[in-house]
Amino acid sequence: MRIPRQGSAVDRRGGALDAARDQLAEAVRTLGYEPGLHDMLARSRRELVVSVPLRRDGGEVEVLTGYRVQHNFSRGPAKGGTRFHPDVTLDEVRALAMWMTWKCALLDVPYGGAKGGVTIDPRNYSPAELERVTRRYTSEISPIIGPDRDIPAPDVGTDERTMAWMMDTFSVAAGHTVPGVVTGKPLSIGGSLGRAGSTSRGVALLALAALERIGVRPGTCTAAVQGYGKVGAGVVDELCAAGVRVRAVADQYGAVHHDRGLDPVALAAHVRDTGSVVGCPGTEPLAGQDLLTLDVDLLVPAAIEGVLHAGNASAVRARVVVEGANGPTTTEADRLLEDRGVLVVPDILANAGGVVVSYFEWVQANQAYRWSVEQVQQRLAERMVQAWREVSADAERRGTTLRRSATLLAVRRVAEAHTARGLYP
Ligand code: NAD
Repeated sequence: MRIPRQGSAVDRRGGALDAARDQLAEAVRTLGYEPGLHDMLARSRRELVVSVPLRRDGGEVEVLTGYRVQHNFSRGPAKGGTRFHPDVTLDEVRALAMWMTWKCALLDVPYGGAKGGVTIDPRNYSPAELERVTRRYTSEISPIIGPDRDIPAPDVGTDERTMAWMMDTFSVAAGHTVPGVVTGKPLSIGGSLGRAGSTSRGVALLALAALERIGVRPGTCTAAVQGYGKVGAGVVDELCAAGVRVRAVADQYGAVHHDRGLDPVALAAHVRDTGSVVGCPGTEPLAGQDLLTLDVDLLVPAAIEGVLHAGNASAVRARVVVEGANGPTTTEADRLLEDRGVLVVPDILANAGGVVVSYFEWVQANQAYRWSVEQVQQRLAERMVQAWREVSADAERRGTTLRRSATLLAVRRVAEAHTARGLYP
């Protein structure tokens, strides 16, 4: 049985681009940069809007809109996910591309930031239609992507199958196989061991580090996770494996709750069978928005942006919020959480595990040499821990939030690269 589609459970007030620009402006003020440099960092270097004509299975033609935004190239080729979601807009893609620039700089990955997407609800299309959308979209953006230019990856609504179609479409046009053009591919065509769970692994690692910082041990910790997709599902598994009691989980259809902690194996099996967490045996139903204000120690928003806003941030009871999603907290919500002493581990740090292992996948593809899963996981953990230490130390020294420090460190690295290269001509 598949759960019927319902309306969006998430309030997306607040505008991701506003939040991204506010964060940059604050960092630039602290760093004392000139308006010209600020303007350069605030704008995308390239934005491509494309029409994606699709022949539906019934024969009729529908024209969708797709985007690819490259925010910055100062530290290397652009890198970022591909989102298939009905709410995708140019402004959202711009914000997500900017955050990718900061994320890559913060983790010292040699990339700039990019993002792409198609405004589509994948649930309403057959696999054959999604393949045609992916291939036509890839073909339309192919003049600006490539292993040395811009390397897409999966994001909301896309997966390794989508990446295989993208890689194949690009390769057919090139006349030879180009494994480095996307990351998040299946293992059989050059994907990396350890890529699939890498974002979740990083989120859980930093959640445990943040809890340790406020003196909460995993065995006594309770958590709620919003989103049960590529990121959220893995976070639930990793937290449960560490001994955390995950009391509630939500997806776009609703939420489930169990005071003594959900059973991650039963939950995964139920989602495999039905496509949703709703109705998982041994759980009680919960309204999706109530998950965010549940009485837990740790809250992990791992769905989409803007879910913590001025209307609900004051009611958040978690002591630690770890941003599995990109941009889940609006600027107003961020202030409210700061005022109440909630420790927020920001997206550009918390969910960077995916881009780190994407970078490892690209390195392996370019060298045609596979690393073991142990090598991948050890190198991922080293980078995540290093970034956590740098950001925590800076935040402590300045007496500020982890988000301000993370943004500041990242913006400074990008500005330094830009200054070293100089302005052409
Ligand atoms: P996904 O499509 O695999 O899963 C998204 C999940 O969120 C699904 O369970 C979906 O039901 C749920 N969801 C969607 N709308 C919702 C709503 N309105 N209310 C509650 N739940 C809702 O996507 P993903 O790859 O897991 O990405 C989730 C977030 O993490 C996004 O913000 C993405 O940009 C970010 N992210 C993903 C990666 C990655 O490697 N996939 C890396 C870094 C950041």
